[in-house]
Amino acid sequence: MIIVTKISDVRTQVAAWKAEGLTVGLVPTMGYLHEGHASLVDKAVSMCDRVVVSDFVNPTQFGPGEDLESYPRDFERDCALLEEHGCHMVFHPEVSEMYAPDACTYVEILSDMPKKLCGKTRPIHFRGVCTVVSKLFNIVMPDRAFFGQKDAQQLAIIRRMVRDMSYGIEIIGCPIVREADGLAKSSRNTYLNAEERKAALILSKAVFLGQRMVSEGEKDAKKIVNAMTDLIQSEPLAKIDYVSAVNGTTMEDVLKIEEGTLVAMAVYIGKTRLIDNFTVGTDGFSMGEGRQ
Ligand code: AMP
Repeated sequence: MIIVTKISDVRTQVAAWKAEGLTVGLVPTMGYLHEGHASLVDKAVSMCDRVVVSDFVNPTQFGPGEDLESYPRDFERDCALLEEHGCHMVFHPEVSEMYAPDACTYVEILSDMPKKLCGKTRPIHFRGVCTVVSKLFNIVMPDRAFFGQKDAQQLAIIRRMVRDMSYGIEIIGCPIVREADGLAKSSRNTYLNAEERKAALILSKAVFLGQRMVSEGEKDAKKIVNAMTDLIQSEPLAKIDYVSAVNGTTMEDVLKIEEGTLVAMAVYIGKTRLIDNFTVGTDGFSMGEGRQ
């Protein structure tokens, strides 16, 4: 596995691979890797000849007062995990390599899509995500890029950006990886103390409740959102940012549950903001009678 910090070195190596006729996959991450990230790398290794993982805490996607400074970092441990999973190159640039001091060009979706859900409390977040992912696409020029459904709004936004900007890169969405007790794996779980870690289970419990209602035939989005909201509110340490049922492609609110509906939430557990979701028709859950 090669560790690269300079954009020019990524370009040289990828050009050499492409000259050999090899396909290249990209897995963008912010590091502090866990089994969720590893599942993306595994998928990339299974679909591409060479896999590049970027490990970069991107400052442009953090708003003022968010956790940019305290975001967990452990590059050595990340490298060990990546090597184990068959990654070929880790791209680990300094902020100064990615952004000139006077950088002022952004990639931004101008519809309401990035203003919904997480965008309500994180107004510049998706502009930062689109900008850094665009830069990574331009640097690596992958055939495919891999993103988790854990960040369902991000995945939908990247798909839209790739379509609108004609990137010609295949975007592969990968299922949410959970801890044994249900909590969605996240680098931010490390912020939780023991009591909060227990309380955080309320997110996945709400997801499972919503999925069960859908699989039992409930089609009224409001009923599902209300039931999930009530459950989350029963946990004293939880403070809801949002629980919403939206069209999984456009992020527009929906009244009726259908295939492709995204039911998503962001919940503060103490000071830590956690997200979780499910999409109807994926993750083994469908509408109607019983699970499939
Ligand atoms: P991050 O490092 O948090 O920016 O995440 C990098 C990528 O890993 C994103 O595409 C995330 O959606 C994905 N990811 C993070 N956590 C999980 C998880 N628990 N399951 C699946 N994918 C995940």
